[in-house]
Amino acid sequence: MSSHPPAPEMPFLPFALPEIGEDEIAEVVDTLRSGWVTTGPKARRFEAAFTEYLGDASLQSIAVNSATAGLHLALEAVGVGPGDEVITTTHTFTATAEVVRYLGADVKLVDIDPATLNIDPAAVEAAITPRTKCLIPVHYAGLAADMTALLAIARRHGLKVVEDAAHALPTTHGGARVGTLASDATVFSFYANKTITTGEGGMLVTRDAALADRARVMRLHGMSRDAFDRFTAKVPSWYYEIVAPGFKYNLTDIAAALGLHQLRRADAFQRRRAELAAAYDEALAGLPLVRPPQPPAGDMHAWHLYVLRLAEGAPIGRDALIERLYADGIGCSVHYIPLHRHPYWRERYGLRDEDFPHSQHAYERTLSLPLYTRMADSDVQRVAASLRRALAG
Ligand SMILES: *Cc1c(COP(=O)(O)O)cnc(C)c1O
Repeated sequence: MSSHPPAPEMPFLPFALPEIGEDEIAEVVDTLRSGWVTTGPKARRFEAAFTEYLGDASLQSIAVNSATAGLHLALEAVGVGPGDEVITTTHTFTATAEVVRYLGADVKLVDIDPATLNIDPAAVEAAITPRTKCLIPVHYAGLAADMTALLAIARRHGLKVVEDAAHALPTTHGGARVGTLASDATVFSFYANKTITTGEGGMLVTRDAALADRARVMRLHGMSRDAFDRFTAKVPSWYYEIVAPGFKYNLTDIAAALGLHQLRRADAFQRRRAELAAAYDEALAGLPLVRPPQPPAGDMHAWHLYVLRLAEGAPIGRDALIERLYADGIGCSVHYIPLHRHPYWRERYGLRDEDFPHSQHAYERTLSLPLYTRMADSDVQRVAASLRRALAG
């Protein structure tokens, strides 16, 4: 197995790297020199630019310090609480589900559609009980979940829908951008390895004015006015009222400065990611691998992740394959160790692998290849060559 020594002449190809340009750096420096480093004018501008980017002026964008925070705020605002159940996919990161537990509600994990690796609408419908309050679809890897089916189910059963769009900037479903669909709220992530980054950060997007008001207040301690409001207001600036025990989830202007310029590049980033994904598809054709599902005709995939599955009969296992790539100086990852495999979720809800056959099957044979805008075309060829050697047996 380990008879393949590292190739020292090749630099290590990391699994993910952000692309931060001089515009981002200058904007951050400008913020640092401005005297206003926490939530203020740049966070406001970032919010306005985000709504404009999504192209629907009826939306409100609320900047937060992570997508996890945004999901927590959205669920709180739609009224998820003790006694409620929230349905989501087992094939996700724990953040999607942990926020449900923050609110004292319970998580109902369901299986995926093996063709798309996205939450299976039929499994959602089968999991609904009188306690079900909300669905959290995840747009896995940047491919939209079947929102047409999921929104129809939600309407039929009177459920709230909060989209985990951490992978989905920009993604479309039925030609409409994720963020503009008919759910109650959508949450994007600007974590370091996401399609655009503010280091840490997120955006909650909603068309529901009451939800937006509640999320804004809960984002900052349950305060009736934020610090920038008070700083710039004509009335005495010391006065505010606490209307709820809120959280500390605001995005700093330092982070928003990055976001302003990353957002301008989001479409170009997506085109580069799509190009790299297509190059992988071509270079890996003929190998015993299941390549990632494509979006429906006319729709956009954000290509946050390029996820492969080993085909039946492949001459090497997933773990060994990752080791071989690593020995060739290539970083890989696995998305995800499904939630039903983790001790907390497994034990709390008595989950078994057999309850999630498609997620379990995908997990056992899945790996994610490096995919980011700073990769060269030659990096794709290098990864493909390494895979070809490893799969030759
Ligand atoms: C990254 C991620 C999150 C959390 O995003 P943060 O901004 O790091 O809080 C949530 N859900 C999914 C599917 C993610 O990949």
